[in-house]
Amino acid sequence: MFNDKKFNGNKIKYAIYYAVVVAIVVFVLNDYVVNLKTEHIKYSDFINYINQNKIEEVQISRDKLVVIPKAVSGQKQKTLYTERIYDPDLVKRLTSAKVKYGGIPQENSPIRSFLINWVLPVAIFLLLGKLLLGRLDKKIGNGVMSFGKNTAKIYAESETGVTFNDVAGQEEAKESLVEIVDFLHNPTRYTDIGAKLPKGALLVGPPGTGKTLLAKAVAGEAKVPFFSITGSAFVEMFVGMGASRVRDLFEQAQQKAPCIVFIDEIDAIGKSRDNNMSTNDEREQTLNQLLSEMDGFDSSKGVVILAATNRPEVLDKALLRPGRFDRRVIVDRPDLKGREEILKVHTRGVKISHDINLLDIAKSTPGAVGADLANIINEAALRAVKKNRTEVIQEDLEEAVEVIIAGKEKKDRILSKREKREVAFHEVGHALIAALLKHTDPVHKITIVPTTMGALGYTRQLPTEKYLNSKDEMLDQICVMLGGRAAEEVEFNSISTGASNDIEKATQTARSMVTIYGMTDRFDMMGLESVQDKYLDGRPVQNCSQETSTAIDEETLKIIRDAHIRANKILNENRELLTKVSEILIDKETLMGEEFMALVNVNKDNEIVE
Ligand code: ADP
Ligand code: MG
Ligand code: ZN
Repeated sequence: MFNDKKFNGNKIKYAIYYAVVVAIVVFVLNDYVVNLKTEHIKYSDFINYINQNKIEEVQISRDKLVVIPKAVSGQKQKTLYTERIYDPDLVKRLTSAKVKYGGIPQENSPIRSFLINWVLPVAIFLLLGKLLLGRLDKKIGNGVMSFGKNTAKIYAESETGVTFNDVAGQEEAKESLVEIVDFLHNPTRYTDIGAKLPKGALLVGPPGTGKTLLAKAVAGEAKVPFFSITGSAFVEMFVGMGASRVRDLFEQAQQKAPCIVFIDEIDAIGKSRDNNMSTNDEREQTLNQLLSEMDGFDSSKGVVILAATNRPEVLDKALLRPGRFDRRVIVDRPDLKGREEILKVHTRGVKISHDINLLDIAKSTPGAVGADLANIINEAALRAVKKNRTEVIQEDLEEAVEVIIAGKEKKDRILSKREKREVAFHEVGHALIAALLKHTDPVHKITIVPTTMGALGYTRQLPTEKYLNSKDEMLDQICVMLGGRAAEEVEFNSISTGASNDIEKATQTARSMVTIYGMTDRFDMMGLESVQDKYLDGRPVQNCSQETSTAIDEETLKIIRDAHIRANKILNENRELLTKVSEILIDKETLMGEEFMALVNVNKDNEIVE
């Protein structure tokens, strides 16, 4: 419908444009033709012509004289004209020469002059104005006149088109939202009994886990309109408009009830007002307006507010108190089964080979969120097209996992022989320690093919799905991380810059053992750091004295040093194995888990098999 209107608008515009151009052309031509028929003469010549009795008739207007000469031997002469200059004797002259004279007969019809003098200028102005406004309109988006209007998009029910079927691996979250859907379906059933439903629910979880998707699904299931707006949109564009936008939004929503209002990234406006050095008046006003609107409207009408955030801990307490966003729906990273389900959802529209094993892909993507998995499927489909296949095969998916999770393999980045050797020993160092220690995850893949993310090679382990890590496991993990550098020392007796990332990760793990998990004798179970922004980067903040801080460093160093020594010892004891596997890796560039395990004679549980 929108398209049609636009088309008509254009048509009218072009019609006006066309008409004006034609009019201008006609007038210019007219003048030109008139010019061809008449000829200019000097006033003195005109006087001469009178004296020579060559003139038949003179038409006098305010500023010119049109002179019609007498026919010469039956032939009509060109009409002449001249400027009218001050000549009080003109009439006398004409009379005495017996020339007919008078005003210019109205050959210009009144309609014509009306058109020229009134309609044409108005039309031109209208056209110019229209063109200019059109430009402005496009720039501002909604036109100059609608500054205060809310710009929340309204998705009608048919347009969200998303249902709970499209959201996988979030069963708990879905369950808590089903109630809201039911409420929106028939509010009276709830209000008859006197039950009050929560006005709002807050979807909380890391980015890409499907919060926005879930909110749309609720609207799709309930078949109600869906108003959605991002928190930042309240504050971003027009300063001072945030509060009025909130008001508009709720006004519209109440008219359309039952409906869902979805505020994405609510932390942009809902940030806690205390413990914040730089207060932001604009945001605070918007937040206050939001709070008062939430208090003000009557939830029995069927307006449900959903909001999403990655950072629930920064939200203002006032937002979370009962009667506002009192219900929290956790949307966490999917587990193994959840990941498989999500992959299934996203392969629905993709042609896949019948022997594809999505469980394997799910297994190799621990920690991936829904958005990553959707991306992997798409990347695999793209790869299939590139390879001129008509369906996606397992290899495409595996490659896509590498692309999304580890950065794209880039074969043309060439390492020198020496460097390649160093990288190979480094990676095998990691892998060997992982294989030889007891509390570690099995090796999934070792490669010395550089990635675009900057790694010259990497060793990937297959983490087992679990939620607790023991102290032994963490110590062994650190040992694995330091194994790369240890191998360089053992083989080349020199060290390189290649271990920087390992060092960073190992230090982080060791430090959190000391400060967060209470795993040292020295500090017993004392908490020395707390984690902020749990769902984002999870940066820890120290809360201890200077001296303790120094002691933390000492303890951390001790853990790392012990692990380093242990790694060196293991590799020294297995020097032959290290060399053998490294040579093979240099040859093949990539070793998969099974090949590697066969080489070192261990099974999946890191038990030596003879
Ligand atoms: P969030 O709002 O939590 O950051 P989105 O809802 O915007 O994440 O998710 C982005 C995309 O990732 C979705 O459009 C969808 O394609 C995919 N996705 C995320 N989570 C899921 C899920 N649980 N099931 C299916 N697809 C998902
Ligand atoms: Mg989102
Ligand atoms: Zn390394």
